[in-house]
Amino acid sequence: MRATNIILLGSSNSDKIHEFKNLFNDYPHLELKSLHELVFNERALREAEVGKTYYENAFNKGRLCYIASKYPTISDDSGLEVDLLDGKPGILSARYAPAKPNQSQDSANMDKLLHEMHGVPKEKRTAKFVCTLVFFIEGVVLSATETLEGVILEAPRGKNGFGYDPLFLVKGTDKTLAEMTLEEKNKISHRHKALKSLMTQISEKGIKLVRP
Ligand code: IMP
Repeated sequence: MRATNIILLGSSNSDKIHEFKNLFNDYPHLELKSLHELVFNERALREAEVGKTYYENAFNKGRLCYIASKYPTISDDSGLEVDLLDGKPGILSARYAPAKPNQSQDSANMDKLLHEMHGVPKEKRTAKFVCTLVFFIEGVVLSATETLEGVILEAPRGKNGFGYDPLFLVKGTDKTLAEMTLEEKNKISHRHKALKSLMTQISEKGIKLVRP
């Protein structure tokens, strides 16, 4: 990584972007980005996920989008923390295991987790989902972190949701997140709680959600 400051180029002409990128080689402390790279390029967002904490990752992703768009921005970073594994997969949840050909990333991740938890009794299979949201608007950065507690099952159950949902039995219920409807999940989830907290902060501070 060479650059320290990002400059946004106000052009969508790919030939010009190419020329400008080259021109900016004379200014190695500056990194020129097109709008497309900053906001619409998934790779740029993935590359921003190199932090050591959920906050750092959410901050980096949100900052890229906010700088490029100036729209009030919310970014999310989340993960599954298993107590017996000292909080793993944690911030590495999304790409915990390499996926084999014809296997989805989610299924590879769940296989690895099941393997690591093989033979562990139910009372030691406790885990939580963590979600950190970061909000950007002119002159303000706010954040919220919330969790959802549960237990890792020995086999997947349910077809809804994503990620580790089929393995996650929600504490105080007899359902995995994948056995819940989207509406049911969204009433209790770590993401729901974090968003509620963020929205409360935004309203308490009297922030108007408009673009400057
Ligand atoms: P990231 O926030 O893009 O780094 O991805 C977080 C990863 O954590 C996802 O790809 C999932 O594997 C996992 N994860 C986070 N939240 C959930 C959830 O609500 N259900 C299931 N898996 C989740």
